[in-house]
Amino acid sequence: MTQQSDNETTPPWDAARVNLTSKELAPGVYAVMPDDVFAKDHVGTTAGFLIGERGVLVVESMLNGDLASQLIGLVRQVTTKPIRFLVNTSYHGDHAYGNYLFPESTVVIQHPATKKYMEENFEEDRRFMIGLMGKGKGIERVQARTADIAVSDMISVDLGGLRIEVKHFGFAQTPGDLVVWAPDAKVLWVGNMIQAPAPALPWLLEGRHKETIATLTRVREFLPEDATIIPGHGRPMRPADLDFPLRYLRELDSIVRAAIKAGRSIESTLDVAAMPHYCSYSLFDWAHKTVNVPAAFLAYRERQDEETEGFGEGGLA
Ligand SMILES: [Zn+2]
Repeated sequence: MTQQSDNETTPPWDAARVNLTSKELAPGVYAVMPDDVFAKDHVGTTAGFLIGERGVLVVESMLNGDLASQLIGLVRQVTTKPIRFLVNTSYHGDHAYGNYLFPESTVVIQHPATKKYMEENFEEDRRFMIGLMGKGKGIERVQARTADIAVSDMISVDLGGLRIEVKHFGFAQTPGDLVVWAPDAKVLWVGNMIQAPAPALPWLLEGRHKETIATLTRVREFLPEDATIIPGHGRPMRPADLDFPLRYLRELDSIVRAAIKAGRSIESTLDVAAMPHYCSYSLFDWAHKTVNVPAAFLAYRERQDEETEGFGEGGLA
């Protein structure tokens, strides 16, 4: 992803080398993370599972059948109870492509926008994911499986002695971002809206950075200070750790906004928005320069084009 050669990109992580491990954070509440999660600032997809008296809820299904099997295997190491629910935090393949490997009786939960996207764009998305993660990583064998229950706002799931909430806080990285909240254990799975703790940065793959700021702010305000956040691709975090990506996004916003106001081109905006104090992130060049700055630039440009009176201060929600 960070280097180009023969139209092949270097993937952000190698799907063939991921070893998943589980850690019990509270009774029946397990985080699942790649075993190199404490060694790198960006790793393969995280997941989780929650075990009640009546069954199990799994968070994420991973990129391919192998990783989904690893995840199910971790569940089976600690319980024989049925996997009754599976939640995808977004349509991104590394969070939802493994759905097909779960039992038919498992109820899949997605946001309606995630379900719609997967139903309408699966083959196109599969091509994108093969381009990103490489050929021969099991993505070719994936079968699309979408939601049995679509959640646009919030549902509460009672697993028997363990109550879980599946919530939509708003657009953060995709229109269908869901989080999974275990209130008693105070653990929140957020998927890709947070990739990993600092120095990792958000990936504004669909732009709309002002909405990302608003949603992350709502998540921050919702959480008690001692909550645990499981980000999509990194080690567990505290709510205070959300201040870092929020600071980055606000800085990006004000620099790009000023650049547009000054009539700068995208090239010139990339120069003034170099933001080198964030460059210790291993994916900085790709995420910041090729995704986030252009995304913020285009958001303001489109907005500016729409405005007849020019560029109104404060009117750029
Ligand atoms: Zn992801």
